[in-house]
Amino acid sequence: MKTKSIRGMNDILPEATATWRHVESIVCDVIESYGYEQIRLPILEHTEVFARAIGEVTDIVEKEMYTFRDRNDKSLTMRPEATAGMVRAGITNGLFHNQRQKLWTLGPMFRYEKPQKGRYRQFHQFDVEAMGYPGPDVDAELMIMCARMWERLGLKRLRLEINTLGSPETRSRYREELVSYFSVVKSQLDEDSIRRLKKNPLRILDSKNPDMQTLIEAAPIMTDCLDDASSAHFEGLKSHLDAASVPYKVNPRLVRGLDYYNLTVFEWITDALGSQGAVCAGGRYDGLVEKLGGRQTPAIGWAMGVERLVALYEGSGGAPGTSAPDVYVVAVGDKAFSAGLSAAEKLRDRMPGIVVALNLGGGSFKSQLKRADKSGAALAVILGEDEVERNEAGVKPLRSAEDQVSVALDELTDVLAGHLARQGK
Ligand code: ATP
Ligand code: MG
Repeated sequence: MKTKSIRGMNDILPEATATWRHVESIVCDVIESYGYEQIRLPILEHTEVFARAIGEVTDIVEKEMYTFRDRNDKSLTMRPEATAGMVRAGITNGLFHNQRQKLWTLGPMFRYEKPQKGRYRQFHQFDVEAMGYPGPDVDAELMIMCARMWERLGLKRLRLEINTLGSPETRSRYREELVSYFSVVKSQLDEDSIRRLKKNPLRILDSKNPDMQTLIEAAPIMTDCLDDASSAHFEGLKSHLDAASVPYKVNPRLVRGLDYYNLTVFEWITDALGSQGAVCAGGRYDGLVEKLGGRQTPAIGWAMGVERLVALYEGSGGAPGTSAPDVYVVAVGDKAFSAGLSAAEKLRDRMPGIVVALNLGGGSFKSQLKRADKSGAALAVILGEDEVERNEAGVKPLRSAEDQVSVALDELTDVLAGHLARQGK
């Protein structure tokens, strides 16, 4: 029996999930405040969905996918990203026929990468996509909503980089320029880049190999090949960002690691997480719906790494989420336990949002009070045979110097509700 976990696949333990859920709920709130609706998608798709969408000559498809044959010999893949599945789902369910969609999802993604800090084999992404909107207004909205999230989460060290990949025509002109540039210096290219030179030269710009960076720096830039419509789209985006006072930098080397992008691409980057600095990234993919068998539908979206976002939140002093109970019920003896159980249920009826931990498994007053203290609860309710005999309970504030008081059992819920209200619950 193997009790080891799989490399790069993490258990997210209770002490972490409270913070995760706090961060996730803020992100959800902001996304939904812009009118995006949640969609939930399968983790498995037919392999060709990803191969065709992401592009055969990309790191993801060449090296990182978890692909296997099912019992019927079909090739299936565990999703490495959400966009391809989202588009597939839209086509399957007819969501793009004369309709516009603003959708989001959240869940685990799988990539066979080299695990390190901020880079795992199972990781989580928020994914937001808008389908049916051709203009730069939605491009801007998708970035502006991120700025609002950083604000709500108190994150300061994120900067926005944008670029345009132009139209398919721009891209093929640019492709030729890149091929002639890199062909001249072919002897200095690494193995991956030589292979990409023929099949997918833009991918060379996305290389992570430090030895390649000087060559990449000196390569021709896309902006010089732009057609008028692409330039107008990019100018539109910039003016909307300016209007919303969201600062950005144009980075002409930004190409992104997937093949399906055109026009706008962008990344939110931080210098606070070492080399895994991309927190949120996305772009426009006007050709993807058609490529996967649907009608031509303009679309744009982004994906955000939750592990990196949570790390950034913790590193910037964000308050940890809490799963500590509000009230811990100490009850010694059978009668006291019954009274405690009924008091706990009444309190949950009255205040559905609060957390009541009833001491389970018995124990002396001393040991139960120790557990109450360790739980982090704000208040303990104390019930012994004597108290119950008198129809009373003790209420003991655990986080302040206030004294324990005795209250009548039928007033207990009111008293606790009053205490918790004073704490803003
Ligand atoms: P990177 O350049 O770091 O490899 P990427 O360009 O491959 O990122 P995308 O496919 O655009 O990333 O995914 C969007 C976001 O998902 C990234 O910005 C990052 O925050 C997160 N992400 C991607 N891969 C991983 C991973 N293996 N582990 C944790 N988070 C990841
Ligand atoms: Mg990657």
